Amino acid sequence: MAELIAVRCEACGGAVAWTAGKPAPACVFCGATALDTFTPPEGVEPPGGFLDFVVDEKAARQLFRKRASDSIWYPSDLRHARLELKAVLVPAWTWSARLETHYTAVVPGRTRSGKRPVAGTDEWPVEGVLVPSSPTLSRQELKEISPFEASELRPLAEAALPHELGSLTRTAARAQGEDGMGRAHQARLRASLSASQVETATIFHDLVGGPLLLPVWIGAYRRGEALHRVVVNGQTGAITGSFPYSWWKILLAVALVLGLILLCTGGAGLAGILSQSPRRF
Ligand SMILES: [Zn+2]
Repeated sequence: MAELIAVRCEACGGAVAWTAGKPAPACVFCGATALDTFTPPEGVEPPGGFLDFVVDEKAARQLFRKRASDSIWYPSDLRHARLELKAVLVPAWTWSARLETHYTAVVPGRTRSGKRPVAGTDEWPVEGVLVPSSPTLSRQELKEISPFEASELRPLAEAALPHELGSLTRTAARAQGEDGMGRAHQARLRASLSASQVETATIFHDLVGGPLLLPVWIGAYRRGEALHRVVVNGQTGAITGSFPYSWWKILLAVALVLGLILLCTGGAGLAGILSQSPRRF
């Protein structure tokens, strides 16, 4: 396994890692080059490899423009927003296991209440559940741009980019991985049983996990005072982020609907008067 060198940025305090034998990198956060070498915290393992970028910068920009035109409620000029984009290899953990989940659930039934209780055991092999190992990517963001194809893992020594040092130890990552897998199984059971309530307890067999680096485009654009964030899966192009609504468009639509209602009720009143008029004359 490639030897990992960890440095801390003197300007912003960010922790960056790269492989021994490569030229010293600039800080992946702020671009500063004044970096102090330090020993990675005990228990933080070097990534087993990285997944390469398939989506290049041009494609990532196209994906943003397409997403920015997806809703009629977005401001019309959103697709032309000045987007700052950065390719980042984000540290994460991937977990696989065979799940044995014991459950109790409330499902639809032919009883007076229309519900009945059930209990059982379900087995499910699950692969590649990801847990972010740095604050760069939130768990929710990672979930929204997942999955990644982990079988294409390449050796760390071939990585062209320096990367952020992961912050999760194996123990912490395993707890989050088990939590993620357990929840996934619960959601799966809820759907397959059409259950309104599910309680589960899961046993993990053949649990395997390891740290790796995920290719992600992290983007930012400004609208007025607000800074918005966009995240693109560098392997599949799945995109998520903050896309503001145009309040002018929404207000205009509300005004139009109100106008239509007024017009209709006004019209009904007029029709009422007209239908009565023959009797008056
Ligand atoms: Zn920095």
